Amino acid sequence: MTEHPHVEIYTKEDCPYCDKAKDLFDEKGVEYETYNVTGDEELFEEMVERANGRKTAPEVFIDDELVGGWDETSALDETGELDEKLGIARADGGNGDAKGRSEGGGGDPEHRKLIVSGSGIAGLTAAIYAARANNDPLVLQGDEPGGQLTLTTEVENYPGFPEGISGPDLINNMQEQAERFGADVEMGIIEDVDDTSRPFRVELSNGKVFTTDALIAASGASARTLSIPGEDELMGYGVSTCATCDGAFFRDEEMVVIGGGDAAFEEATFLTKFAEKVYLVHRREEFRAEDYWQDRVQEKVEDGDIEIMKNTEVTEIHGSPEGGVSHVKMVTHPEGRPTEKPDHPETEAFDFDVGAVFLAIGHTPNTGYLEGTGVRLDEDGYIRTAGGKGGGQTKTDVPGIFGAGDVVDYHYQQAVTAAGMGCKAAIDADEYLETAEVGGASAAQESAALSDD
Ligand SMILES: Cc1cc2nc3c(=O)[nH]c(=O)nc-3n(C[C@H](O)[C@H](O)[C@H](O)COP(=O)(O)OP(=O)(O)OC[C@H]3O[C@@H](n4cnc5c(N)ncnc54)[C@H](O)[C@@H]3O)c2cc1C
Repeated sequence: MTEHPHVEIYTKEDCPYCDKAKDLFDEKGVEYETYNVTGDEELFEEMVERANGRKTAPEVFIDDELVGGWDETSALDETGELDEKLGIARADGGNGDAKGRSEGGGGDPEHRKLIVSGSGIAGLTAAIYAARANNDPLVLQGDEPGGQLTLTTEVENYPGFPEGISGPDLINNMQEQAERFGADVEMGIIEDVDDTSRPFRVELSNGKVFTTDALIAASGASARTLSIPGEDELMGYGVSTCATCDGAFFRDEEMVVIGGGDAAFEEATFLTKFAEKVYLVHRREEFRAEDYWQDRVQEKVEDGDIEIMKNTEVTEIHGSPEGGVSHVKMVTHPEGRPTEKPDHPETEAFDFDVGAVFLAIGHTPNTGYLEGTGVRLDEDGYIRTAGGKGGGQTKTDVPGIFGAGDVVDYHYQQAVTAAGMGCKAAIDADEYLETAEVGGASAAQESAALSDD
């Protein structure tokens, strides 16, 4: 490795993960070259060739060695290997972050009054309120800094922006606002929370450890996948969970969008900019998408840009990393959910040629780090909070741990509702921090179980 590694990032326009990659290197103070492949066929081909056929941005290289996209880059950062590759010496000799904070292993873990897991709209709203209440919040960003809103181009239903606002701009503004009041926002994925003693012990996936008097879990939800043959192998080679990120790479191809909610309808509409035709595939007859999106998709159907395939499911994705997606296998049944009726005489299986497949089939809550704590989760993994009226709505079963946003709310899952819950959680946490004897009794002793409502 050279003394100053050469970092190259292939980017494209409207690419939230490209911005995340650039922000990561900016945070580290590392210089890099960017190559914007939008509209530059030659550069695009070069990127695909250097990335072993992957058609997704960003693609990061260090000294000509492929690191990969955002997932691979952030994973490498978590383990500290990225810093090693970059030749960045850690201030504490390897056991702390670049700012030299303590992180367990050696000295005492850093103590924080309040930690917020997640830098989506719920976490950042909580941070604004908590910082203004002098609770000195530390926001840990997780593997998707800024959360789901960074994946969308226009947010048109967030109050206060009559012309709409881009998801990344909304999030950047909120982070700036939180930092203005003193919140710290850092990279870090919480792996484990120990609630058996006070303060809570919070361990990150990079081994760093904090203690905290209170925790707001605002860790949102991640895109669900189908677990069908071909999906993993072709992820990044024509299969994607982010239309805004990857749609432009499949220009003039026929594309399938799978799902029946707002996200699927929005993605299908967005993809008509690039696609020869978009096929919106949904396993049932009825859609969950709001009327606004159904009307917009209907216009595209009338223009011939979108075709809706109801009562149909994709069961296999075929292709290769070199050639991308070639076709999918689908099944259909007039009464829906065809994969549940494989032997029914009206169930039909068929092959369908497409160049790209976009998954928009809902989300799985990010609550793995709370398993083993007293925080009660429902059968799908969403956090159960007290709810109801009056104060304390965001309390979990563990005093001092609060839940906010999509990680709690499987029903509304909107930016404005997530922000509202982030505000409530910060106020609940403030009341807790004012009144509780933090650092005293064990969580188990203090635990006042919530009603089963
Ligand atoms: C494509 C798309 C378009 C959308 N458009 C709109 C729209 O127009 N209007 C609207 O109202 N809503 C929209 N939504 C929904 C909206 O984005 C979500 O409701 C909102 O982002 C939820 O915010 P949140 O903060 O609860 O969670 P998220 O946005 O999911 O953020 C969760 C955060 O938690 C972090 N995290 C996860 N695990 C950990 C961990 N272990 N440790 C630390 N941090 C962790 C993640 O990195 C992330 O920062 C859209 C969603 C998508 C996917």
